[in-house]
Amino acid sequence: MAGGHAHDAHDDHGDGPEVLSVSDKNPRVRTIQVKRPTPAESSYLAATAKGLGVTLKHFVKNTFSRRKNTYIETIEYPEQKFEYPERFRGLHRLMHRDDGAVRCVACMCCPTVCPAHCITIVPAQTDDNGIEKYPATFEIDELRCVVCGLCVEACPCDAIRMDTGIHAKPVEERHEAIMTKDLLLELGARSTAVQGGEGADWRGKK
Ligand code: SF4
Ligand code: SF4
Repeated sequence: MAGGHAHDAHDDHGDGPEVLSVSDKNPRVRTIQVKRPTPAESSYLAATAKGLGVTLKHFVKNTFSRRKNTYIETIEYPEQKFEYPERFRGLHRLMHRDDGAVRCVACMCCPTVCPAHCITIVPAQTDDNGIEKYPATFEIDELRCVVCGLCVEACPCDAIRMDTGIHAKPVEERHEAIMTKDLLLELGARSTAVQGGEGADWRGKK
C-alpha cells in the first residue's frame, strides 16, 4: 500500500486478485491479495479422471461403433490407410539430365539451407567442360528431414524434387532411413527435368 490514507475496497473482479484497499491520494495505488487455488482446485485427480473418461469414451466408440470407416479415431494400419492430403510431398528424388546424368551440380545450396542438416554431399569434378562438379555422394537422412521443402526451393537447377507421394518406409536401424544417391536417382528416373526449362510452365513438365 502506498502513502496516504487508504480506504477499504473489497470489490471482487471475478477471478482476478482481490482488492483490499485503495489509496486516497491515487486510486491507482491499491493493496491486493492474489487468490491461491485451494487444495481441491490444485489437485490433479479431477483432471486425471477427466482424461481417463476421454480415453474410455474413445475405447467404447472404437470397439462398438458400426460406422467404423467414418467414426473411429484409430485405423488398422497397414490394411487401412488414411488418404494423404493433396499437398503431401513424399520422399525426395534426384532428377536426370537429358543425357541421363545426374542433374545436380553439387553447388551445396541445399545442404546449406537444410535446417535439419540431413543432406550430405561429396562433390567431385566432372570431365564435362560446361559443368564443373557432380555429387559423388548424395545422401538424405529421411529420419532427420522435417519435410520443409527448402532444399527444393534452394536448388538453382531443378535437380531435387519432393513430389513422389511415397511415404518414408518404417525402419529398424537409423542407417536404413538414409536415401542414397542411387535410390534418389531411382525415384527420379520417373522423369527428366528439361534442360534449360521450357517456359513458364516448367513445373507442369513431367
Ligand atoms: S525437406 Fe527440409 S529438412 Fe528435408 S532435406 Fe529438404 S531442406 Fe532438409
Ligand atoms: S541445390 Fe540442387 S544442384 Fe545444388 S547441391 Fe542441392 S540438389 Fe545439387
